[in-house]
Amino acid sequence: MYGWCDKCKAIALEGRCSEHGATKPLSFINSIDIRPLTKFEKQLLNNESNDIKLGEGIFLVYGDRYYRRKIVFLNKPLLEFKLLKDGIHVKPYVKGRFEGMNKEDLFIVNKDRLDRLVQTSKEFADYAFSENGYSCIISFSGGKDSIALAYLLKKYKMKKVFIDTGIEFKETYDFIKRFKDDNGNLDVIKAKSNFFLLCKEKGFPKYETRWCCKTQKFKPFNDYLEEKFNGEPVFVYTGQRRWEGLSRLESPFKKPHKYIVRQISIQPMLEWLTMDVWNYIWANNISVNKIYNIFGRGGCWPCPFGLKYRMFILQYTHPKLYNLIKKYTSMVSNNNNKKESSTRNRMYKSVIDRKANSC
Ligand code: SF4
Ligand SMILES: [Zn+2]
Repeated sequence: MYGWCDKCKAIALEGRCSEHGATKPLSFINSIDIRPLTKFEKQLLNNESNDIKLGEGIFLVYGDRYYRRKIVFLNKPLLEFKLLKDGIHVKPYVKGRFEGMNKEDLFIVNKDRLDRLVQTSKEFADYAFSENGYSCIISFSGGKDSIALAYLLKKYKMKKVFIDTGIEFKETYDFIKRFKDDNGNLDVIKAKSNFFLLCKEKGFPKYETRWCCKTQKFKPFNDYLEEKFNGEPVFVYTGQRRWEGLSRLESPFKKPHKYIVRQISIQPMLEWLTMDVWNYIWANNISVNKIYNIFGRGGCWPCPFGLKYRMFILQYTHPKLYNLIKKYTSMVSNNNNKKESSTRNRMYKSVIDRKANSC
């Protein structure tokens, strides 16, 4: 259970502070995987509420699927917000200004846990790497998990492979370019099929029928492995984590991929939580994709996972992408009468320090 160290003023991811021992249990959290609130979300919430102000530090958020709301919290719940038909509704639980946590305090509280995770992940990666006869590469999406994994395994100088699905954020393309310029050793594989042409044929992908992973990811990656490694099996290191979704809960550290026949997935970070990844990134000063200033996760921008909330944000941050999705799905048609004051839009745009129509 999560805990709160009153001396460090930070959350303990496994209920114990590395410096001060026992912590106060945070029994109100009903989700395993919590994440930091993004800069954009913080500004949005500050703008929507007169009663509560969130300061410069780190705040945490989890999605309460049962009530379809998100809870922002520190040592107690601070506010909840919900996306309804007429926009976002913010309900503060407390009043006043809150400063949030420091990265340094968060690191101190969770140091023992992070050291242990890093050590076991490296040991497992070493073990897999030393197995005879297999080529090893890193599946590199440009997201936080893959950059943490690449840093964790940097001593092996493994080839990284980025699959360009054709529906990545501009921020991701920028990040991939930066990474390639700085580190080299990265292959970029483009999906040959066009997502939007396929949408006309198959319909917009839904959570249950997400055909696009097969066409935009698995097929190009399979072709790449076949061509590059002459049909031999390949160890593909991935940053997948157990708590990302129900389907991964029982996943083993090493397994053959269901659809990519030559891929044997090696998953050294399976036990890491989202906050472990962020702790590791902040502690090592690793540069990340700027998309995380806006969204809690990167990946393809029209992804059916969490699309409704993403679309709400997209209309302010990436209006061209928002309009493109609108063209292909009717899910936001009832949002047309939304009030959008120009003052509010200006504020949102300044938050992410970029022109709204740059993408
Ligand atoms: S949009 Fe989502 S479901 Fe489709 S390829 Fe991308 S990650 Fe997979
Ligand atoms: Zn402490």
